[in-house]
Amino acid sequence: MFNPQDLLRPHLKALVPYSSARDDYKGSEGVFLDANENPIGSITEADWNRYPDPYQKALKEKIGEIKAVDSSQIFLGNGSDEPIDLLFRAFCEPGVDNVIINPPTYGMYKVSANINGVEAKEVLLTPDYDLDEDEILEAVNDHTKMIFICSPNNPTGNDVSLEKIEQVLTSFSGIVVVDEAYIDFADRPSFTTKLDQFPNLVVLQTFSKAWGLAALRLGMAFCSNELLAILNKIKAPYNLSGLTQQTVLEALSQTEKKDSMVKTILENREALKERLSALELVQRVYPTDANFFLVTIPNARQVYEEMIDKKVILRDRSKVALCEDGIRITVGTKDENDALIAALKEL
Ligand code: PMP
Repeated sequence: MFNPQDLLRPHLKALVPYSSARDDYKGSEGVFLDANENPIGSITEADWNRYPDPYQKALKEKIGEIKAVDSSQIFLGNGSDEPIDLLFRAFCEPGVDNVIINPPTYGMYKVSANINGVEAKEVLLTPDYDLDEDEILEAVNDHTKMIFICSPNNPTGNDVSLEKIEQVLTSFSGIVVVDEAYIDFADRPSFTTKLDQFPNLVVLQTFSKAWGLAALRLGMAFCSNELLAILNKIKAPYNLSGLTQQTVLEALSQTEKKDSMVKTILENREALKERLSALELVQRVYPTDANFFLVTIPNARQVYEEMIDKKVILRDRSKVALCEDGIRITVGTKDENDALIAALKEL
């Protein structure tokens, strides 16, 4: 039976978390003289003088409805980078434990591992950018606490094989993190539908992409109650600002706007694919399930720099494993895509 307590760093088992008086009093009416706030108001027009809900109850309930996940299985963080870091801090003993990542993939898993003094073992994706599940399981040892799988994968854009993800979830006794930052652009159900089946699963999603809220910094981790309790125990007490909570809660009544933006981005994606593929300069446009393309262009670094001179900023991935001559291009608006193609034609 998977029990995250068995993976928890020993010193955290006895940790007494920060508590506030508002853990003892849940009402909203009262004379609040417990938190040394300014009782008069704020310097801003709207009042932000009271600390926000540390567990973001209202927001989680709304997100739970939209995502069809019980709110008791939702952790909210300052971007999905926060739960990534918290997972390292909860489960990985510096200099002792390790995690497995699958390059080419999102860079933050390795950076977070490095920040926390934890080894990130690299098991490359296959040449067609799928999981190498046999090699992953081969790389696991007694100190492997987590495996990070990104799908749709950044920077390659594709969904990896869902069957292989399930195989890893079944065969590995540690935590499997499935990062679905780009799920809204993919044509498949989320792994959140499998939370009850796999107690070792953590699904990451974010409001930074499809929802268009990157500046607010709001990421989600979906996991079992037991895993959630551990993340809650070690997070900063008020990790999400009141402004973020209120703004997103209000915005969530207009999910149709998100759907319409995703539809437009998907249409633009198809049009851009045709136009990029037609360019002589572009060697290959990889298939994508996300809001960006990985393309290969000979002398990618030079092309990237020349594009910067033209004020079109792309992401150079040419030095990344398995991405030789790779450039990652976000799908823009129609006008931005026109500017991109025009600038590429000028090279
Ligand atoms: N996961 C992946 C795969 C990403 O590409 C990104 C952002 N580039 C993130 C997570 C981070 O998202 P957030 O803005 O929620 O921290």
